[in-house]
Amino acid sequence: MELLTAHDVAVIRADNPGPFTLEGTNSWIVGRDPAWVVDPGPALAAHLDALAAELEARGGLGGIALTHDHPDHAEGVGGLLERTGPAAVAAAHAADLLLGDGDAAGPLTAIATPGHAPDHLAFALGPIVFSGDIVLGRGSSLLIPAPGALAAYLTSLERLRARRPAAIAPGHGPLVTDPKAKLAEYVSHRLERERLVLEALDDGARTVDELLARAWADAPPQLRAAATVTLAAHLDKLDDEGRLPDGVERPAWPLPLGRVGRP
Ligand SMILES: [Zn+2]
Repeated sequence: MELLTAHDVAVIRADNPGPFTLEGTNSWIVGRDPAWVVDPGPALAAHLDALAAELEARGGLGGIALTHDHPDHAEGVGGLLERTGPAAVAAAHAADLLLGDGDAAGPLTAIATPGHAPDHLAFALGPIVFSGDIVLGRGSSLLIPAPGALAAYLTSLERLRARRPAAIAPGHGPLVTDPKAKLAEYVSHRLERERLVLEALDDGARTVDELLARAWADAPPQLRAAATVTLAAHLDKLDDEGRLPDGVERPAWPLPLGRVGRP
């Protein structure tokens, strides 16, 4: 896309397809002399070799910006630095450069976007937003239920909306060329799930199985674990808002998914 070319952005996709990673993780490369990388992705040798070659062609690595520390985004950091030599790692925690909302990381500006992970960041480069797992190129983002995750997630979507980006470069899936429509779709998708959960509760559904059958009837079996996690987040939000009836079975904390983000 011309916008990417104009901002000297390239993408290299890792070969780690799966139900949560879609076609694989997108590692975004920004600028040159030196270049920055958003999410080196999984520790796959071929992927890291390809990234290192692109970085060398761009005059070297200036730094790595991490959207969050799930392995499909961050596991390749060590392997990439072995190939390129040392460079700063910038993230919301456990990094050389600790970032908060509005902080700069090379040419990028951090945007606090908790929800999928509590310390999730998106990054802005002019009108382009690198969204990690807050917005994906296809489908809906998997929520990680930590207390307050869903309310935080909706706030994060509004924060991205307010920036009016011209394109969203996601952690998985194709470039989003109509961010306004995509963000509206994400918000309405969440609110529709909430409506279905409330309707099921009104009709007397109380167990996890009953609630999933009613509110996630469209979810394919391989996404049942993800749906359960998201149900937990919805119930948590309703509970916080005093809208949860008594006697509702809650999916167990912590996550039933284990290492989320890996197929
Ligand atoms: Zn991911």
